[in-house]
Amino acid sequence: MPSENPHTAEPGGYIGRFAPSPTGLLHIGSLLTAVASYADARANGGRWLVRMEDLDPPREMNGAATHILHTLEVFGFEWDGEVAYQSRRHDYYRHTLEQLKQAGLVYPCYCSRKDWQAAARSGVDGFVYNGRCRYAMPSENPSGKVPAWRIRVPDENIAFSDGIVGDYQQNLAKDIGDFVLLRADGFWAYQLAVVADDADQGITHIVRGQDLLVSTPRQIYLQRCLNAATPNYAHLPLLVNRQGQKWSKQTLAPALDMQQTEQLLRQVTAYLNLPAAPSVDKPQDLLAWAVQNWHLNRVPKQAICTE
Ligand code: GLU
Repeated sequence: MPSENPHTAEPGGYIGRFAPSPTGLLHIGSLLTAVASYADARANGGRWLVRMEDLDPPREMNGAATHILHTLEVFGFEWDGEVAYQSRRHDYYRHTLEQLKQAGLVYPCYCSRKDWQAAARSGVDGFVYNGRCRYAMPSENPSGKVPAWRIRVPDENIAFSDGIVGDYQQNLAKDIGDFVLLRADGFWAYQLAVVADDADQGITHIVRGQDLLVSTPRQIYLQRCLNAATPNYAHLPLLVNRQGQKWSKQTLAPALDMQQTEQLLRQVTAYLNLPAAPSVDKPQDLLAWAVQNWHLNRVPKQAICTE
């Protein structure tokens, strides 16, 4: 629920966020991210925002957004301000893409995935786009076909120091290729929406799962193109099953059991290397205790098997 005592960040203060996608219900991995981002924000006297990343209706589960917020409340989380919904921010994303068009940084791409992937090499996150439409003359573009929009990426290293993982870098041209910001089917790409929103909401610290580490150089590059500040990043260890797969909807992660709040919060705080918590009356007390005992530098780097 929205907190009654907003932890208003001073100018230059800490603003963190938790940004679930309502493609399924919260599971143990989501709880780890929620607890860590919350504890890091509150331990630094910061604000903690919740943003619903509901940009991909075909992948979403009916009722998941409401269920997620209810689950956060039952686990004792209090967020600052109103929940932001990406589905209500299309105009803002259009404006952001327009800014990049004005700067000449993006181009329309008419390739079908099947066509370009057939000859593409693999990068660090799927195939590397070969840049076919980057060099096409406008007159060569098929009329009547709706394009995707891609951003040109530089042949240079984008490096940053992660609060948990340490130094990380990618050469976007070699490792990723020009990436999509607006899909041909009209859906906004995660990379554009997340950077636009983090900038607009003044997010200063991002604590999220290591599955998103591979996206961070793209996001830093977009921030630079948009003259937006780069937040501090900390990428949490993934919680995995016995096969080493990240818990997710695909690996059939069980939804959080709302009858087991204390036990699940204790489990997650143990994964985050917090000391054992004293007995408490309610989940809010466990979260408050996690805030008091929080040390980002104690969080392990390696994936954790929960089975
Ligand atoms: N919505 C993303 C997810 O649920 C998280 C995005 C982010 O934290 O940048 O995986």
